[in-house]
Amino acid sequence: MATNSTPTNSASSATPAPLPPSPKKGTKLSSQRIAILISVLVAGIIAIYLGISPYLEFKQRVLGLALTFSACFLLVYFSYEALIFREINNIYASLEKFKRKEFKQMSNKFLFRPDPLQRIKDEIYHLAERNQKEIEELKRLQAMRREFLADVSHELKTPIFAAQGFIHTLLDGAMDDERVRDKFLQKAAKSLDGLDTLVQDLITISQLEKGVIQMKKKTFDLNELGQEVLEQLESKAKARNITIHLLNAPEESFMVIGDRGRIKQVLINFMDNAIKYGLENGNIWLSFQDGKKKTLVTVRDDGPGISKQHHNRIFERFYRIDKSRTKDTSGGGSGLGLAISKHIVEAHKSVIVIDSEVGKGTTLRFKLIKAKA
Ligand code: ADP
Repeated sequence: MATNSTPTNSASSATPAPLPPSPKKGTKLSSQRIAILISVLVAGIIAIYLGISPYLEFKQRVLGLALTFSACFLLVYFSYEALIFREINNIYASLEKFKRKEFKQMSNKFLFRPDPLQRIKDEIYHLAERNQKEIEELKRLQAMRREFLADVSHELKTPIFAAQGFIHTLLDGAMDDERVRDKFLQKAAKSLDGLDTLVQDLITISQLEKGVIQMKKKTFDLNELGQEVLEQLESKAKARNITIHLLNAPEESFMVIGDRGRIKQVLINFMDNAIKYGLENGNIWLSFQDGKKKTLVTVRDDGPGISKQHHNRIFERFYRIDKSRTKDTSGGGSGLGLAISKHIVEAHKSVIVIDSEVGKGTTLRFKLIKAKA
């Protein structure tokens, strides 16, 4: 049931265009072979003429044949080598230089292979294959970028339009009624707060993706952080009659190495989701468990659960299971919380593991490196 949080992007599932067929390693055409073939042909024709001639002895015929064969061979071989194969070798050398510049891992052991035509075919095939992969990757990134832009504009539109609506209604006369004025101003402020959260989250995720944000890793006590998170979320949980249970005793300590502020952000996101999406009168359990080198962090709820098809996708930016539940009706966040959490946990060299089934609640786990005693 447990699933790793590695994202599966919709765009990445697109089937890549078929690659050109690999060059067949069949008959090899080298200058020697061509020279031998032509020489045998010419010598064969001469042999027929010499055979018919009544003036020549057997020895002279053999000598004539050998001389014709050798002359033909040398002539054809050197003209091919000099004119065609050397040119091809030059092209190959340029290709090899170009390739080594860009793809350093390619070995140059093929440099001295005796068959330049086959070599060139191989090289062109490898380059085409690489280029094709690069094109596929660029197309995938472009699709992702387009999708991201569409999502961002949609997410920005919602709170802006809401705040705009309330303010215009007030300006159109609703301001005169004190009760309506307060209510609409509060709603406009709530929408703008949502907008602020969204923009902050967008900045955070883009900085995390660019690698600008460095984790400030220090030793800290996870259990103490757990208490802090509980205090911060207690009133929100109470509003839905949800109980948060800390499974470890307050005097226990779990010293780990990590960025305390960022790990707090992850715990808040997990527990805030459990409050938002959990059932009223439900429960949330937070626990820490020491292993040999790492400490396991577990957040569990007895909410509606998440079906397997969404397990990887909920870590994508803006992915929501229930698209119809907007921020206003579900109290949902920016849709970036788990994407940000995934980046933070990965920056701590760990992964978020999800264990959930519809109707059976949700458990999220990750590990942190234990601090040395
Ligand atoms: P949001 O801002 O929408 O909460 P998140 O990235 O935090 O964004 O979560 C993505 C989606 O995953 C949520 O919209 C919700 O559908 C689902 N989800 C997250 N946590 C839970 C949970 N504990 N129980 C049920 N669904 C959840």
